[in-house]
Amino acid sequence: MDDRSDGAAAAHQDPHAHQNGNPLLVPGRLPEFEALRAEHVEPAINDVLAAQRAALERAERAVEPTLDWLRELEQIGTAIHRVWGPVSHLNSVLSSPALRDAFNRCLPLVTEFYTDLGQNEALYLRYGSLAPLAADGQHPVEAQLIAHALRDFRLSGVTLTGAARERFRAIMQQLAALQARFEQNLMDATDAFQHHELDRAALAGVPDAVLVRARALAAEHGLDGWLLRLDAPTYQSVLAHAESPALRARFYEAWVTRASDQGPNAGRADNGPLIHEILALRHESARLLGFKSFAELSLATKMADSPERVIEFLRDLGRRSKTVAEHELAVLTEYAGRPLEPWDIAFYSERLRQERLRLAEEELRPYFPLPRVLDGLFSIVNRLFDLTISPARPPSVWHSAVRYYEIRRRDGSLVGSFYTDLYARPNKRGGAWVDSCVSRANLGGRLETPVAYVVCNFNSPVGETPSLLTHTEAVTLFHEFGHTLHHLLTEVDYPSLSGINGVAWDAVELPSQFLENFVWRPEVLASLARHFETGAPLPQDKLDTMQHSRTFLAALSMVRQLEFALFDFRLHHEYSPERGARVEEILADVRREVSVVQVPAFNRFPNTFAHVFGGGYAAGYYSYKWAEVLAADAFGAFDEAGLFDRATADRFRRAILAVGGSRNALDAFVEFRGRPPELDALLRQSGISAPATRQ
Ligand code: ZN
Repeated sequence: MDDRSDGAAAAHQDPHAHQNGNPLLVPGRLPEFEALRAEHVEPAINDVLAAQRAALERAERAVEPTLDWLRELEQIGTAIHRVWGPVSHLNSVLSSPALRDAFNRCLPLVTEFYTDLGQNEALYLRYGSLAPLAADGQHPVEAQLIAHALRDFRLSGVTLTGAARERFRAIMQQLAALQARFEQNLMDATDAFQHHELDRAALAGVPDAVLVRARALAAEHGLDGWLLRLDAPTYQSVLAHAESPALRARFYEAWVTRASDQGPNAGRADNGPLIHEILALRHESARLLGFKSFAELSLATKMADSPERVIEFLRDLGRRSKTVAEHELAVLTEYAGRPLEPWDIAFYSERLRQERLRLAEEELRPYFPLPRVLDGLFSIVNRLFDLTISPARPPSVWHSAVRYYEIRRRDGSLVGSFYTDLYARPNKRGGAWVDSCVSRANLGGRLETPVAYVVCNFNSPVGETPSLLTHTEAVTLFHEFGHTLHHLLTEVDYPSLSGINGVAWDAVELPSQFLENFVWRPEVLASLARHFETGAPLPQDKLDTMQHSRTFLAALSMVRQLEFALFDFRLHHEYSPERGARVEEILADVRREVSVVQVPAFNRFPNTFAHVFGGGYAAGYYSYKWAEVLAADAFGAFDEAGLFDRATADRFRRAILAVGGSRNALDAFVEFRGRPPELDALLRQSGISAPATRQ
């Protein structure tokens, strides 16, 4: 496969592409990536959406829906994903102007299809008529499928009528626009700030890579010296490394006052009023749907069962971390020799880290050659689950760096397969992720085994030298492989609940964060981390330092995350039309409760909180910590029984990995652990012991 020219797929226009030869529409188990061209996309999407609209109309006419009817409806999403899945995958891993155009033209069509589906009353009623059939206890998976469908219909406003329905639609559109404006304002405010520096000494400590960029930017503007922008990497570098407190203070002030009434660009693109509008509309939409607050609405699709539970969860973590965080701050203050300002924290943390740990991540790369890390990972899966992973003859792939693997049981039967695309290159989205290529389905007739895409952005091999990972990158690989196992080891027959589909999103990071733990364990590292030339194991002192780095100043970062999470959640839970949003009041209250670093009065952090006011994580920021607790506690079972205890692994596979979204996430956890999740494992893992509260 190496003689295939890179980037062939989707990059070139083929004037001879015809609809009847459209590779997106040919039947087959896996996508025909090599034949796929940008001009295939729009005709194929139109074709599949028309066919599925027709299927929906047939389903709407069903007089008496049956379980077969349910199975036919499941095919609709699968049929669309078969066409749209490869397109959006390619758009991420092998983008080209032509493909991006085709993608952007088709995205609204696909979105519109699902919006219409969500408000389809005829289907809603037919799903409802199946509910009694599913309630007989004989069909737990079908019952969950119907419950999810009914829930999603309701959250789309299907039950609203008349003025309420119109109002709900108007709110949704207004919210989408306001949230987009929040992000836009933040971007504009970030771009509006520049720091021009002529004195090299004032930039002492700032990493060379940042200075090279700043030098080039200055030249671009016909300026001498250095021009620094406020993008996240530059901001973080300045805060962590610049020796001048004045420079750090200037960047800190610019950063925390973006899109607000304070700071160097006060009043321009102010997000303040938007926050109030967004919170008011979210609250109103939640009330229209019958929820007490937007926080309650947010939990309708999550594992946490009540707002009180989430708030207590965050407070409990806060109580048990705050004393340690205060101690860490005291250590840092003593190290600095003077009281610390908010713009000093990252700087002295970094200095202390280098002095205490004497470990640069880069030094570890020779010990983590990618082929060896993959072998180690696959053998862990083999020891845990008695499954074999081996390279297979690749089907059509989109790039010569792509590999294809199969997971098989001891008897040789196929469990699932996955593509890997692990190296950074131009025209590929940054970061690491796992996506579904095929979801497991067994809808009467043929069994579809699941297939996943595993995408990372590691350095490519150079000549004879393999790709060498930092330890952080090895952790990333394990993380993504946890998602992969979740998707492939599923035993659910319905694709909308199989693998990673339909899983409550505060629980979906459980398997990924769970698997990360293995690559921290000395007994795993002893065989997995070997020098790529000499084969020598990682020296003991480096191993020890790595363990310490995991817990270094962990409580300070814990309470910071808790501040964000508690603020987000309380804001959405305590909103009332009479009292308004009380943004500053709630934030001050949260800070008194969990924070240890005092912030100046000009700080306007909420105006920059795009996770929450831009969309996605509204009343959901807590999910990060929630899933960390689940993962650490689940891994605790392996600490107790032995790292490779087969029975524990089998219980984990059956209770967590196999069930996908077909079971309530808490029930699944309790089945595995024998009790509800507890915080202790995460606190231990982070080095935050709390003997005073445990007694
Ligand atoms: Zn993840």
